[in-house]
Amino acid sequence: MKYIGIVKEPHFEKRICFLPKEVRLAIKELGLEVLIENGLGETVGVSDTDYKTAGATLNSRAFILENADYILSINDIQDVITEGKPKTVIGIFNMLFYPERMDKYLRKNTSVFSLDLLPRTTLAQSMDVLSSMASLSGYKAVLKATSYYNGSFPMFTTAAGTLNPAKVLVLGAGVAGLQAIATAKRLGAIVEVFDVRKSSAEEVRSLGAKFIEVEGYEEGENAGGYAIAQSQEYLDKQKKLIHERISNANIVITTANIPGKKAPILIDTEALDTMLPGSVVIDLAAEQGGNCEKTQNQKTITYNHITIVGDSHLSREMSQAASQLLSSNYYSFLKYVLQSTKEEDIIINGCQVIATGKITHPQLTTKLE
Ligand code: NAD
Repeated sequence: MKYIGIVKEPHFEKRICFLPKEVRLAIKELGLEVLIENGLGETVGVSDTDYKTAGATLNSRAFILENADYILSINDIQDVITEGKPKTVIGIFNMLFYPERMDKYLRKNTSVFSLDLLPRTTLAQSMDVLSSMASLSGYKAVLKATSYYNGSFPMFTTAAGTLNPAKVLVLGAGVAGLQAIATAKRLGAIVEVFDVRKSSAEEVRSLGAKFIEVEGYEEGENAGGYAIAQSQEYLDKQKKLIHERISNANIVITTANIPGKKAPILIDTEALDTMLPGSVVIDLAAEQGGNCEKTQNQKTITYNHITIVGDSHLSREMSQAASQLLSSNYYSFLKYVLQSTKEEDIIINGCQVIATGKITHPQLTTKLE
């Protein structure tokens, strides 16, 4: 009999990665025993009794870390992982950006899968935690902007005069950016967008927003659909155009990332200085250094009467919705790992960071050299 164990997240994390619905499925469909740390679901209103009713056994953290074959968590586990029996840890550890997180898992019986490294293939879509969380964060970024912005999003025509709609600039039209565009449009804003991937232009236009082309760009994406780093010449041209547009914008939402690299600075201080007082910047790339020069990760600051929110995890503020999506993604991945019979599997190999104490991910072995 195999045991999966789900441990409580750190205090800053309200989302959880396995709900009672998936506990039932894991027991019924996958034949697993499920161990849940006492109080796991408190942050999303799920009680220990709910887990028990679904068939799980409640236990202490130490017991789960010692005895589970598969340990599920969202955030990096801070505890010492003991040698004990072989175990596999599944999480979203962003080890490309934080390679030091691998150290404590380098023990001969421990393997690690980090789901942020899943290949973005059709088959892996049901497990794609990054897309699930990016959608929610993009949506929440706009709602957050509305609460800091003192103007109106839609146009108001009243007997006392007309209020102009908000102008929103979105930098990066990936999963989060597209959701931000759709949300801002629904609220009646005028939306302009930059991205380095030409393929995103059509999606942007279909949402009714304006795609700003930077002349002379090379194809800005790799085979996996991710952006690639751009030449200095391109970035200079882009910066000039952003300067032009930003002085008109009331709200800027930035989402531009290059996987495993520092985020490109798209809004320097010079550009910020042209922005209108009362404008708002929501920087979803904050964890990777931010797209705005003044962004501070996990902080909301005011610069020159402009509010700048640095937060790459706004999905944490929608903990119920986020947990529902994560739980489904984690279950799909677990099922895939348990049922895969292939020796070389691009989904499994793609997100395996450590196999029995040895680093196996090509991007991470080279990073440490
Ligand atoms: P991401 O979070 O890595 O980056 C966000 C956006 O920033 C991307 O659109 C990127 O092109 C853009 N960007 C990077 N540098 C920039 C710059 N200097 N200026 C302006 N924009 C810049 O990306 P993501 O949202 O996770 O996904 C990117 C793409 O991956 C998707 O749009 C899609 O094509 C692909 N994808 C495929 C699947 C799938 O097939 N299952 C799932 C998810 C995503």
